Amino acid sequence: MRITRLSTFRVAPRWMFLKVETDEGLTGWGEPVLEGRALTVEAAVHELGQTLIGRDPMRINDHWQSMYRHHFYRGGAVLMSAIAGIDQALWDIKGKALGVPVHELLGGRVRDRMKVYSWVGGDRPADVVEQIRRLVEGGFDTFKLNGCEEMAMVDSVRAVDRALAVVDEVRRVFGTRIDFGLDFHGRVALPMARPLLRALEPYRPLFVEEPVLAEQAEHYPALAAATAIPLAAGERMYSRFEFKHVFQRGGIAIVQPDLSHAGGITECHKIAAMAEAHDVALAPHCPLGPVALAACLQLDFVAWNAVLQEQSMGIHYNEGAELLDYVSNRDDFRIEQGCIAALPGPGLGVVIDEDRVREAAARAPDWHNPMWRHADGSVAEW
Ligand SMILES: [Mg+2]
Repeated sequence: MRITRLSTFRVAPRWMFLKVETDEGLTGWGEPVLEGRALTVEAAVHELGQTLIGRDPMRINDHWQSMYRHHFYRGGAVLMSAIAGIDQALWDIKGKALGVPVHELLGGRVRDRMKVYSWVGGDRPADVVEQIRRLVEGGFDTFKLNGCEEMAMVDSVRAVDRALAVVDEVRRVFGTRIDFGLDFHGRVALPMARPLLRALEPYRPLFVEEPVLAEQAEHYPALAAATAIPLAAGERMYSRFEFKHVFQRGGIAIVQPDLSHAGGITECHKIAAMAEAHDVALAPHCPLGPVALAACLQLDFVAWNAVLQEQSMGIHYNEGAELLDYVSNRDDFRIEQGCIAALPGPGLGVVIDEDRVREAAARAPDWHNPMWRHADGSVAEW
Protein backbone atom coordinates (compact mmCIF):
# COMPACT_ATOMS: atom_id res chain seq x y z
CA MET A 1 0.00 0.00 0.00
CA ARG A 2 1.28 3.48 -0.90
CA ILE A 3 0.19 6.95 0.13
CA THR A 4 -1.07 8.82 -2.93
CA ARG A 5 -2.56 12.10 -1.77
CA LEU A 6 -3.11 14.42 1.21
CA SER A 7 -6.10 16.78 1.06
CA THR A 8 -7.03 19.38 3.68
CA PHE A 9 -10.43 20.86 4.41
CA ARG A 10 -10.83 23.94 6.59
CA VAL A 11 -14.36 23.98 8.00
CA ALA A 12 -16.56 25.79 10.51
CA PRO A 13 -16.32 26.43 13.37
CA ARG A 14 -12.48 26.59 13.39
CA TRP A 15 -11.30 23.12 12.43
CA MET A 16 -9.33 21.47 9.65
CA PHE A 17 -9.61 17.88 8.52
CA LEU A 18 -6.96 15.96 6.61
CA LYS A 19 -7.74 13.08 4.26
CA VAL A 20 -4.86 10.76 3.40
CA GLU A 21 -5.51 8.51 0.40
CA THR A 22 -3.76 5.30 -0.66
CA ASP A 23 -3.45 3.35 -3.90
CA GLU A 24 -5.56 0.54 -2.38
CA GLY A 25 -8.56 2.79 -1.84
CA LEU A 26 -8.17 2.93 1.96
CA THR A 27 -8.31 6.45 3.37
CA GLY A 28 -7.51 7.90 6.77
CA TRP A 29 -8.65 11.10 8.46
CA GLY A 30 -6.77 13.40 10.79
CA GLU A 31 -7.41 16.79 12.37
CA PRO A 32 -4.25 18.88 12.07
CA VAL A 33 -5.39 22.21 13.37
CA LEU A 34 -4.15 24.94 15.61
CA GLU A 35 -7.03 27.17 16.63
CA GLY A 36 -6.54 30.51 14.91
CA ARG A 37 -3.64 29.25 12.78
CA ALA A 38 -5.42 26.86 10.42
CA LEU A 39 -3.91 28.39 7.27
CA THR A 40 -0.37 28.18 8.64
CA VAL A 41 -0.76 24.56 9.74
CA GLU A 42 -2.35 23.72 6.39
CA ALA A 43 0.82 24.87 4.63
CA ALA A 44 2.94 22.80 7.02
CA VAL A 45 0.81 19.69 6.43
CA HIS A 46 1.33 19.89 2.68
CA GLU A 47 5.05 20.59 3.04
CA LEU A 48 5.52 17.59 5.37
CA GLY A 49 3.10 15.49 3.33
CA GLN A 50 5.22 15.73 0.17
CA THR A 51 7.76 13.39 1.76
CA LEU A 52 5.06 10.77 2.42
CA ILE A 53 3.77 10.39 -1.13
CA GLY A 54 4.66 6.92 -2.43
CA ARG A 55 5.50 5.60 1.04
CA ASP A 56 3.89 2.71 2.95
CA PRO A 57 1.35 4.21 5.42
CA MET A 58 1.73 1.27 7.82
CA ARG A 59 5.19 2.41 9.01
CA ILE A 60 3.83 5.10 11.34
CA ASN A 61 6.79 5.13 13.74
CA ASP A 62 9.23 5.68 10.90
CA HIS A 63 7.11 8.42 9.35
CA TRP A 64 6.81 10.15 12.71
CA GLN A 65 10.58 10.11 13.24
CA SER A 66 11.17 11.29 9.69
CA MET A 67 8.66 14.17 9.96
CA TYR A 68 10.32 15.20 13.23
CA ARG A 69 14.05 14.44 12.84
CA HIS A 70 14.61 14.87 9.12
CA HIS A 71 13.98 18.59 9.55
CA PHE A 72 16.72 20.55 11.27
CA TYR A 73 14.25 23.03 12.82
CA ARG A 74 11.48 21.23 14.64
CA GLY A 75 8.88 21.30 17.38
CA GLY A 76 6.49 24.07 18.32
CA ALA A 77 2.76 24.55 17.87
CA VAL A 78 2.58 24.71 14.07
CA LEU A 79 4.87 21.84 13.06
CA MET A 80 3.75 19.51 15.84
CA SER A 81 0.07 20.13 14.98
CA ALA A 82 0.81 19.26 11.35
CA ILE A 83 2.59 16.05 12.41
CA ALA A 84 -0.29 15.30 14.80
CA GLY A 85 -2.96 15.34 12.10
CA ILE A 86 -0.89 13.26 9.68
CA ASP A 87 -0.11 10.78 12.48
CA GLN A 88 -3.83 10.44 13.32
CA ALA A 89 -4.67 9.74 9.68
CA LEU A 90 -1.95 7.07 9.45
CA TRP A 91 -3.31 5.32 12.57
CA ASP A 92 -6.77 5.50 11.00
CA ILE A 93 -5.47 3.80 7.83
CA LYS A 94 -3.60 1.14 9.79
CA GLY A 95 -6.63 0.28 11.91
CA LYS A 96 -8.86 0.09 8.85
CA ALA A 97 -6.31 -2.05 6.99
CA LEU A 98 -6.19 -4.52 9.90
CA GLY A 99 -9.91 -4.22 10.74
CA VAL A 100 -9.45 -3.13 14.36
CA PRO A 101 -9.80 0.07 16.41
CA VAL A 102 -6.56 1.90 17.24
CA HIS A 103 -6.94 1.02 20.95
CA GLU A 104 -6.63 -2.65 19.98
CA LEU A 105 -3.39 -1.87 18.11
CA LEU A 106 -2.12 -0.17 21.29
CA GLY A 107 -2.67 -3.25 23.43
CA GLY A 108 -6.38 -3.16 24.20
CA ARG A 109 -8.67 -1.36 26.61
CA VAL A 110 -7.85 -0.72 30.27
CA ARG A 111 -11.35 0.62 31.04
CA ASP A 112 -14.97 0.12 29.98
CA ARG A 113 -16.02 3.76 29.77
CA MET A 114 -14.31 7.14 29.76
CA LYS A 115 -15.52 10.10 31.80
CA VAL A 116 -16.03 13.27 29.77
CA TYR A 117 -16.77 16.79 30.91
CA SER A 118 -18.54 19.80 29.45
CA TRP A 119 -17.57 23.42 29.14
CA VAL A 120 -19.92 26.01 30.61
CA GLY A 121 -19.96 29.78 30.86
CA GLY A 122 -18.04 30.92 27.79
CA ASP A 123 -15.09 33.30 27.56
CA ARG A 124 -16.46 35.54 30.30
CA PRO A 125 -18.17 33.13 32.69
CA ALA A 126 -21.92 33.81 32.56
CA ASP A 127 -25.14 31.80 32.90
CA VAL A 128 -23.03 29.10 34.49
CA VAL A 129 -25.68 27.77 36.88
CA GLU A 130 -28.33 27.49 34.19
CA GLN A 131 -25.97 25.69 31.82
CA ILE A 132 -24.83 23.26 34.50
CA ARG A 133 -28.44 22.59 35.46
CA ARG A 134 -29.29 21.58 31.87
CA LEU A 135 -26.21 19.37 31.54
CA VAL A 136 -26.81 17.67 34.89
CA GLU A 137 -30.22 16.63 33.54
CA GLY A 138 -28.34 15.06 30.61
CA GLY A 139 -26.19 12.99 32.97
CA PHE A 140 -23.04 15.13 33.27
CA ASP A 141 -21.50 15.69 36.69
CA THR A 142 -18.18 17.30 35.75
CA PHE A 143 -17.65 20.69 34.15
CA LYS A 144 -15.04 23.25 33.26
CA LEU A 145 -15.30 27.01 33.18
CA ASN A 146 -12.93 29.89 32.81
CA GLY A 147 -11.62 30.88 36.22
CA CYS A 148 -11.66 34.62 35.52
CA GLU A 149 -11.85 37.29 32.85
CA GLU A 150 -8.93 39.59 32.05
CA MET A 151 -6.58 39.71 35.02
CA ALA A 152 -3.87 42.33 35.23
CA MET A 153 -0.45 41.27 36.52
CA VAL A 154 -1.45 42.79 39.82
CA ASP A 155 -5.19 43.29 39.98
CA SER A 156 -7.76 44.62 42.43
CA VAL A 157 -9.71 42.83 45.10
CA ARG A 158 -12.76 43.41 42.90
CA ALA A 159 -11.29 41.31 40.06
CA VAL A 160 -10.65 38.50 42.54
CA ASP A 161 -14.16 38.84 43.97
CA ARG A 162 -15.71 38.63 40.48
CA ALA A 163 -13.91 35.32 39.94
CA LEU A 164 -14.98 34.01 43.36
CA ALA A 165 -18.62 35.05 42.93
CA VAL A 166 -19.15 32.65 40.01
CA VAL A 167 -17.63 29.70 41.84
CA ASP A 168 -19.41 30.56 45.07
CA GLU A 169 -22.77 30.49 43.30
CA VAL A 170 -22.03 27.14 41.63
CA ARG A 171 -21.15 25.50 44.96
CA ARG A 172 -24.14 27.09 46.73
CA VAL A 173 -26.58 25.80 44.10
CA PHE A 174 -25.11 22.35 43.41
CA GLY A 175 -23.19 21.56 46.57
CA THR A 176 -20.86 18.63 46.11
CA ARG A 177 -23.13 16.89 43.57
CA ILE A 178 -20.89 18.16 40.79
CA ASP A 179 -17.19 18.72 40.16
CA PHE A 180 -15.67 21.52 38.18
CA GLY A 181 -12.27 22.53 36.94
CA LEU A 182 -11.27 26.17 36.57
CA ASP A 183 -9.23 27.25 33.55
CA PHE A 184 -7.05 30.30 34.23
CA HIS A 185 -6.35 30.14 30.48
CA GLY A 186 -2.98 31.81 30.85
CA ARG A 187 -4.79 34.98 31.88
CA VAL A 188 -3.19 35.02 35.32
CA ALA A 189 0.43 35.95 35.98
CA LEU A 190 2.41 34.78 38.98
CA PRO A 191 1.62 37.76 41.27
CA MET A 192 -2.13 36.96 41.13
CA ALA A 193 -1.92 33.19 40.77
CA ARG A 194 -1.08 32.57 44.41
CA PRO A 195 -3.82 34.78 45.97
CA LEU A 196 -6.39 33.44 43.50
CA LEU A 197 -5.53 29.81 44.24
CA ARG A 198 -5.72 30.48 47.97
CA ALA A 199 -9.11 32.22 47.66
CA LEU A 200 -10.50 29.43 45.48
CA GLU A 201 -9.27 26.58 47.64
CA PRO A 202 -12.34 26.44 49.96
CA TYR A 203 -14.53 25.76 46.89
CA ARG A 204 -12.54 22.60 46.16
CA PRO A 205 -12.28 22.78 42.36
CA LEU A 206 -11.25 19.52 40.72
CA PHE A 207 -8.25 21.33 39.23
CA VAL A 208 -6.96 24.71 38.14
CA GLU A 209 -5.70 24.71 34.56
CA GLU A 210 -2.78 26.80 33.30
CA PRO A 211 -2.43 28.60 36.65
CA VAL A 212 0.26 30.56 34.85
CA LEU A 213 1.31 30.28 31.21
CA ALA A 214 3.17 27.20 29.99
CA GLU A 215 6.21 29.38 29.31
CA GLN A 216 6.28 30.09 33.05
CA ALA A 217 6.21 26.37 33.90
CA GLU A 218 9.13 26.76 36.29
CA HIS A 219 6.64 28.29 38.75
CA TYR A 220 4.36 25.24 38.83
CA PRO A 221 6.21 23.51 41.72
CA ALA A 222 6.03 26.60 43.97
CA LEU A 223 2.36 27.14 43.15
CA ALA A 224 1.60 23.49 43.82
CA ALA A 225 3.35 23.73 47.18
CA ALA A 226 1.16 26.71 48.07
CA THR A 227 -2.22 25.07 47.33
CA ALA A 228 -4.05 21.78 47.77
CA ILE A 229 -5.84 22.30 44.43
CA PRO A 230 -4.47 19.92 41.77
CA LEU A 231 -2.80 21.94 39.01
CA ALA A 232 -3.26 21.04 35.35
CA ALA A 233 -1.42 22.12 32.20
CA GLY A 234 -0.22 20.84 28.86
CA GLU A 235 -2.37 22.14 25.99
CA ARG A 236 0.47 24.49 24.99
CA MET A 237 3.25 21.90 25.23
CA TYR A 238 4.07 20.05 22.06
CA SER A 239 6.37 17.06 22.53
CA ARG A 240 7.70 14.59 25.10
CA PHE A 241 10.91 16.62 25.10
CA GLU A 242 8.98 19.62 26.37
CA PHE A 243 6.83 17.62 28.80
CA LYS A 244 10.01 16.04 30.15
CA HIS A 245 11.02 19.29 31.86
CA VAL A 246 7.57 19.68 33.42
CA PHE A 247 7.61 16.15 34.82
CA GLN A 248 11.14 16.58 36.12
CA ARG A 249 10.34 19.83 37.93
CA GLY A 250 7.00 18.58 39.30
CA GLY A 251 3.98 20.60 40.38
CA ILE A 252 1.53 19.41 37.75
CA ALA A 253 -1.03 16.83 38.93
CA ILE A 254 -2.93 16.50 35.65
CA VAL A 255 -1.27 16.75 32.28
CA GLN A 256 -3.33 17.81 29.28
CA PRO A 257 -1.55 17.14 25.97
CA ASP A 258 -3.62 17.90 22.88
CA LEU A 259 -3.74 14.98 20.43
CA SER A 260 -3.96 17.51 17.58
CA HIS A 261 -1.09 19.69 18.81
CA ALA A 262 1.46 17.39 20.46
CA GLY A 263 2.49 15.06 17.65
CA GLY A 264 -0.65 12.92 17.56
CA ILE A 265 -1.35 9.48 18.96
CA THR A 266 2.25 8.26 18.59
CA GLU A 267 3.67 11.09 20.70
CA CYS A 268 0.85 11.46 23.22
CA HIS A 269 0.91 7.71 23.96
CA LYS A 270 4.52 8.24 25.09
CA ILE A 271 3.66 11.42 27.03
CA ALA A 272 0.89 9.47 28.82
CA ALA A 273 3.39 6.79 29.86
CA MET A 274 5.86 9.43 31.07
CA ALA A 275 3.05 10.99 33.11
CA GLU A 276 2.14 7.63 34.66
CA ALA A 277 5.76 7.14 35.69
CA HIS A 278 5.58 10.47 37.57
CA ASP A 279 2.16 9.69 39.17
CA VAL A 280 0.55 12.39 37.03
CA ALA A 281 -2.98 11.96 35.66
CA LEU A 282 -3.86 12.41 31.99
CA ALA A 283 -6.76 14.55 30.71
CA PRO A 284 -6.29 15.19 26.98
CA HIS A 285 -7.14 18.70 25.81
CA CYS A 286 -9.84 18.67 23.11
CA PRO A 287 -11.98 21.73 22.41
CA LEU A 288 -11.78 20.60 18.76
CA GLY A 289 -13.63 18.44 16.27
CA PRO A 290 -14.62 14.77 16.01
CA VAL A 291 -11.39 13.36 14.58
CA ALA A 292 -9.36 14.95 17.36
CA LEU A 293 -11.82 13.60 19.93
CA ALA A 294 -11.69 10.13 18.41
CA ALA A 295 -7.88 10.21 18.60
CA CYS A 296 -8.08 11.28 22.28
CA LEU A 297 -10.49 8.47 23.08
CA GLN A 298 -8.25 5.88 21.46
CA LEU A 299 -5.53 6.97 23.89
CA ASP A 300 -7.86 7.27 26.90
CA PHE A 301 -8.86 3.65 26.57
CA VAL A 302 -5.28 2.38 26.73
CA ALA A 303 -3.77 4.88 29.20
CA TRP A 304 -4.37 3.74 32.78
CA ASN A 305 -3.83 7.28 34.14
CA ALA A 306 -6.45 8.90 31.84
CA VAL A 307 -9.03 10.44 34.17
CA LEU A 308 -11.06 12.96 32.19
CA GLN A 309 -11.70 13.75 28.54
CA GLU A 310 -12.56 17.23 27.33
CA GLN A 311 -15.05 17.43 24.44
CA SER A 312 -16.53 20.35 22.57
CA MET A 313 -20.25 19.66 22.45
CA GLY A 314 -21.95 23.01 23.05
CA ILE A 315 -18.66 24.80 23.67
CA HIS A 316 -18.73 28.56 23.14
CA TYR A 317 -16.39 28.30 20.12
CA ASN A 318 -18.70 26.07 18.07
CA GLU A 319 -20.34 28.75 15.92
CA GLY A 320 -21.47 27.41 12.56
CA ALA A 321 -21.04 23.70 13.32
CA GLU A 322 -21.31 21.30 16.24
CA LEU A 323 -19.08 18.39 17.24
CA LEU A 324 -20.94 15.66 15.36
CA ASP A 325 -22.14 17.60 12.29
CA TYR A 326 -19.50 16.01 10.04
CA VAL A 327 -19.86 12.51 11.53
CA SER A 328 -21.95 9.68 10.06
CA ASN A 329 -21.67 7.26 13.04
CA ARG A 330 -22.99 9.71 15.66
CA ASP A 331 -24.45 6.95 17.79
CA ASP A 332 -20.96 5.67 18.61
CA PHE A 333 -20.23 9.02 20.32
CA ARG A 334 -23.27 8.77 22.62
CA ILE A 335 -22.56 10.17 26.10
CA GLU A 336 -24.38 8.31 28.88
CA GLN A 337 -24.12 9.32 32.53
CA GLY A 338 -21.23 11.59 31.57
CA CYS A 339 -19.24 8.76 30.00
CA ILE A 340 -18.48 7.58 26.50
CA ALA A 341 -17.78 4.00 25.42
CA ALA A 342 -14.79 2.92 23.34
CA LEU A 343 -15.44 3.69 19.68
CA PRO A 344 -16.12 0.27 18.09
CA GLY A 345 -15.20 1.04 14.47
CA PRO A 346 -11.84 0.27 12.86
CA GLY A 347 -9.06 2.86 12.88
CA LEU A 348 -9.99 6.01 14.79
CA GLY A 349 -13.63 4.88 14.85
CA VAL A 350 -15.01 8.06 13.32
CA VAL A 351 -16.83 7.92 9.98
CA ILE A 352 -16.51 11.29 8.29
CA ASP A 353 -19.34 12.57 6.09
CA GLU A 354 -17.09 13.74 3.28
CA ASP A 355 -19.86 15.41 1.26
CA ARG A 356 -20.69 17.53 4.28
CA VAL A 357 -17.01 18.36 4.82
CA ARG A 358 -16.51 19.42 1.18
CA GLU A 359 -19.63 21.53 1.29
CA ALA A 360 -18.49 23.25 4.50
CA ALA A 361 -14.94 23.76 3.19
CA ALA A 362 -16.33 25.90 0.37
CA ARG A 363 -17.30 28.54 2.92
CA ALA A 364 -14.79 28.08 5.73
CA PRO A 365 -14.44 30.92 8.22
CA ASP A 366 -10.92 32.03 9.17
CA TRP A 367 -11.32 31.91 12.94
CA HIS A 368 -9.01 33.86 15.22
CA ASN A 369 -9.17 34.19 18.97
CA PRO A 370 -10.38 37.47 20.50
CA MET A 371 -7.70 40.09 21.09
CA TRP A 372 -8.29 41.56 24.50
CA ARG A 373 -6.83 44.65 26.10
CA HIS A 374 -6.77 45.77 29.71
CA ALA A 375 -8.56 48.92 30.85
CA ASP A 376 -5.29 50.88 30.45
CA GLY A 377 -5.00 49.89 26.78
CA SER A 378 -2.22 47.32 27.20
CA VAL A 379 -2.45 43.85 25.70
CA ALA A 380 -4.31 41.29 27.79
CA GLU A 381 -3.98 37.51 27.57
CA TRP A 382 -7.09 35.76 26.26
MG1 LIG B 1 -7.27 25.46 28.71
